[in-house]
Amino acid sequence: MPRSNIQYRGRFAPSPTGPLHLGSLIAALASFLDARHSTGSWLVRMEDLDLPREEPGAADSILHSLQCHGLHWDENILYQSTRTSAYAAALTHLADRGNLFPCDCTRAILSTSGACQGNCRTSQTKISGPAAVRISVPCEQDILFTDRLQGPEHTLLGQSLQDFVVKRKDKLYAYQLAVVVDDAEQGITHVVRGSDLLDSTPRQIFLQQRLDYPTPRYCHLPVITTGQGQKFSKQNHAPALDNRMAHSNLLCALRFLHQCEPPAALASVEQLLAYAIEHWSLEQVPAVSSIPAASIGLSA
Ligand code: GLU
Repeated sequence: MPRSNIQYRGRFAPSPTGPLHLGSLIAALASFLDARHSTGSWLVRMEDLDLPREEPGAADSILHSLQCHGLHWDENILYQSTRTSAYAAALTHLADRGNLFPCDCTRAILSTSGACQGNCRTSQTKISGPAAVRISVPCEQDILFTDRLQGPEHTLLGQSLQDFVVKRKDKLYAYQLAVVVDDAEQGITHVVRGSDLLDSTPRQIFLQQRLDYPTPRYCHLPVITTGQGQKFSKQNHAPALDNRMAHSNLLCALRFLHQCEPPAALASVEQLLAYAIEHWSLEQVPAVSSIPAASIGLSA
């Protein structure tokens, strides 16, 4: 066994809103192959923070599917539902530095991008009812990073997304905060995930800077889309993967990622993955934000 590379700690972080589908398998497989090719660790984090959106049994079903597809993780799974005290501590840290303010704007007042339009940043003392907690983003704040696949990204965060929510009005911690606290807790060095999350990354880097956390390397993969150009997701009725078809599901995901075709003689999932790890090449993955399922011969 090669020695594990402590310079590389990757992760797959599914939300248990439904079973694993081809879109989530592609993200899981790419992050797994990238980690294993670098003899790094690959962790799984269950992002089960948003109870209202959760589907009962989905977390266990996702984990079972990962196992059936030979995607075995290192270390214990981190469940976000057990992490509220860590998120609270991060909020306190931000609040102590004067970075937070309550916002009781209703949906009708918020801009289409969700920005506060009600001057809550300056009128905070008047709020007494339920309120979201936002972080102040200076209007001149920009974020620069180089995505390993999509290249240089420059976002004028203070102008495009402005003050964003870190704790929701329904008292749930926001995804942006939780993911940053947990990537730091798990010592994640490399994030490989779908391009649908590319516009979240500047907010996450901003929070990392505010919390004195390191910033991982990011890699945003093309997402697989239906004939109507929509991302595969539970909302778009992406079918659950059939675990008995793990070998062909993996082949399909490898084709989507433009990896070299494994020899037909590699009949088991383990053999297929060993070959895919050895031959993993991020350079082969198309640097685009989406690819239609039809391009790999799937009707969707
Ligand atoms: N939980 C998110 C999702 O399932 C992914 C979060 C991430 O990879 O940062 O879309």
